[in-house]
Amino acid sequence: TQTVTEHFSEQLSLRARALLHGMGAELPTPGTLLARSPISGGILLPLTIDTPTTVDAAIGRAAGAFPAWRTVPAPVRAAVVRRLAELLVAHQGALAELVTLEAGKISAEALGEVQEMIDVCEFAIGLSRQLYGATMPSERPGHRLMETWHPLGVVGVISAFNFPVAVWAWNTAIALVCGDTVVWKPSETTPLTALACHTLLRRAAVDVGVNPEVHQLVQGDATVGHALVDDPRVALLSATGSVRMGAAVAPRVAARFGRCLLELGGNNAAIVAPSADLDLAVRGIVFAAAGTAGQRCTSLRRLIVHRSIADEVVGRIAAAYTQLRVGNPLEEGVLVGPLIDERAYTAMQEALVRAGQEGGVIVCGGERVDLIGPDAYYARPALVRMPKHTELVREETFAPILYVLTYDDFDTAIALNNDVPQGLSSSVFTLDQREAERFLSADGSDCGIANVNIGTSGAEIGGAFGGEKNTGGGRESGSDSWKAYMRRATNTINYSTELPLAQGIHFG
Ligand code: NAD
Repeated sequence: TQTVTEHFSEQLSLRARALLHGMGAELPTPGTLLARSPISGGILLPLTIDTPTTVDAAIGRAAGAFPAWRTVPAPVRAAVVRRLAELLVAHQGALAELVTLEAGKISAEALGEVQEMIDVCEFAIGLSRQLYGATMPSERPGHRLMETWHPLGVVGVISAFNFPVAVWAWNTAIALVCGDTVVWKPSETTPLTALACHTLLRRAAVDVGVNPEVHQLVQGDATVGHALVDDPRVALLSATGSVRMGAAVAPRVAARFGRCLLELGGNNAAIVAPSADLDLAVRGIVFAAAGTAGQRCTSLRRLIVHRSIADEVVGRIAAAYTQLRVGNPLEEGVLVGPLIDERAYTAMQEALVRAGQEGGVIVCGGERVDLIGPDAYYARPALVRMPKHTELVREETFAPILYVLTYDDFDTAIALNNDVPQGLSSSVFTLDQREAERFLSADGSDCGIANVNIGTSGAEIGGAFGGEKNTGGGRESGSDSWKAYMRRATNTINYSTELPLAQGIHFG
């Protein structure tokens, strides 16, 4: 007989099938890649893993589609992205629900993730008329100096489980208007949401008369990723995931003189100064630290609080934490969903044990909440006071743990913010303009994202997203991030009858 959990898992699986069907996806051929739901830990659907032969063929199709695609004018290329945005609007609820089923995000955050896809499509459509090159004054009479931006080639996209659809859209919407073709290898943990996105994009392409081969999907783990990493036809590898993954792929891409765009782990801090608006700060801190069950690259992991207000701030966060509902992310009112899998839960527990060994005190949280059977991992967000910046605190544990440290002077607070290998996001809560400006200045935060009176997570697509140091240095999404997806040519045009040489050189 079926247990209650098995029955529930079966319901989730049926729901996943129905959602895929509603988005026009054919059910995948069953194989050894098991899509699971962290909500119950049960299997949603089995899929086939790509082989070296099928990956090679997919890259071949993307490379084959590139020569024609690159000559389509950029504003015309935008039509496929515009159609994709329409389809995303039409299927926003279904895709978001699939994100919840497969990645465990609460419904509001899953809907927000799909909204981010729609937003970046709109950005890319506008961008298609703004792929500007500069002109520069030439030092020679009768000469013009300028740059032009051209499509690059095949873009390989490797993405992480925690933003299973938005990261793909950031890359793909921009890459397509830039005239590139795309081969996507999603996380092996989230193959179904990938299948849904791939289906919608191919349908968008067919609807507007674009060759659907401009986008390819390959499924599997790091082994399948390696094929993209090592293939010289992949001009740009855009890889999102752990620092460990980045360290493995970057040298291999460099060895073949390919380009990398790396979006790796973070270890994000917020400074809370004595002047801070604490009502606002606590709300910002709780969302950034406990939201998405601490599984955002920009999740708040370190709180650097002025000693004079530390007890009060810790007390207020602890009070807010006890109000957070942990549970099934499909249920209204739940704010913290499951961890992605057992490994994530084990890493969280190991970190909490180590925190104790390194002199830390757990203020609240950390315990498992047994809700939906033995294979689902729900944990209460943990708040831990640490006596100093230990090795553990300098690592990224991808789970909801917030370490609290104290400071006496602002220089120390900035030094602590920067004293980690990663450099993704950071914020300061202060009403003191000098502190805010100092934090944003050249000797302030060393991160790619530095915020004032707002948490570390939840970036808008209009800005460039990414971080420094071990976070990898890549920038995606808004501002001029598109430049990573194109190649630049510098052009000198002589419209005179003379041939003056640069630097005043006389030859012959
Ligand atoms: P992960 O590194 O385990 O996997 C990420 C992707 O890389 C997956 O598709 C995986 O199959 C692939 N991969 C892993 N090793 C590989 C290798 N050697 N060669 C080729 N491909 C390989 O990360 P995860 O657990 O899925 O995601 C969590 C991590 O991602 C966290 O560290 C988080 O901070 C980071 N992240 C960063 C950003 C960002 O924008 N900076 C965004 C989301 C997640």
